[in-house]
Amino acid sequence: ATPMALLVGTGRGAQLGVLIKGPEVLESTRRVDTIVLDKTGTVTTGRMTLVDIIVADGEDSSDVLRYAAAVEEASEHPIAQAIVRGATERLGDLPAVADFRNLPGRGVTGIVDSRAVIAGRPSLLEDWALRLDGELASAFDSAEANARTAVVVAWDGRVRGVLVVADQVKPTSADAIAALRELGLRPVLLTGDNERAARSIAGVVGIDEVRAGVLPEGKVEVITVLQARGAVVAMVGDGVNDAAALAQSDLGIAMGTGTDAAIEASDLTLVRGDLWGAVDAIRLARRTLGTIR
Ligand code: ADP
Ligand code: MG
Repeated sequence: ATPMALLVGTGRGAQLGVLIKGPEVLESTRRVDTIVLDKTGTVTTGRMTLVDIIVADGEDSSDVLRYAAAVEEASEHPIAQAIVRGATERLGDLPAVADFRNLPGRGVTGIVDSRAVIAGRPSLLEDWALRLDGELASAFDSAEANARTAVVVAWDGRVRGVLVVADQVKPTSADAIAALRELGLRPVLLTGDNERAARSIAGVVGIDEVRAGVLPEGKVEVITVLQARGAVVAMVGDGVNDAAALAQSDLGIAMGTGTDAAIEASDLTLVRGDLWGAVDAIRLARRTLGTIR
């Protein structure tokens, strides 16, 4: 394409709500054949809400919520925000946390009222030689089977309860993914969240291929493996966790509603934060580079 056509293409992109980093990006946009979609905040709204609290025998649900939320207050994760909002609505002010630790893709730990609290995936419990069993284990399983995310809460050597948060699929995701398929792209859902929740969301939006339970550093590897098999990969993401994978992709696409880290690592930004922007960008690139040669 002529430089002029490319400039017109990028200008047209801006009108469509797709910010293109440079005219050369249109070429990789035209060539992509695989589109990796982050789940939380990309396919779903990422605005989670606290929907359930299940406690172990003899535990108080307000305490379980209070101590977990006090630790989560130091985290910016959508799960943390849901727990903190749920707690402040029900309990008011939260106690302070000391010695906060964020374990990306797993959860958080900290000291609250001299209790050593952990909140996160069951794998965190293993570090303390604890495990989830009985009613808490079945509550955890049924939450995840229903596309929800369950957070295990423990302190001082005992599992105290499970908090359940729910996300929502964006109303535009299923139709936009169908349109991406019609453009010949192969969609893959990528998430740090659990397999069952990921499968259930994938079913709702029409994706067959799922990579779940992937830690932030593993997201880059998913992209490089696809590339090694010959795919030209676009990745759409919103989180700090996604930045390295977005940079590795042949075409990094950030949600405009996402973090600065994701936007900086990407070639395209979807201002409206919905997947129709990706459809528009690919159509535009094909039109710009297809008709004018
Ligand atoms: P995603 O790829 O969907 O954005 P992450 O990689 O950020 O998810 O997190 C993966 C999983 O780790 C979450 O689904 C959750 O189970 C757990 N997790 C991460 N951060 C937290 C937190 N602050 N509190 C509790 N659990 C967390
Ligand atoms: Mg995300």
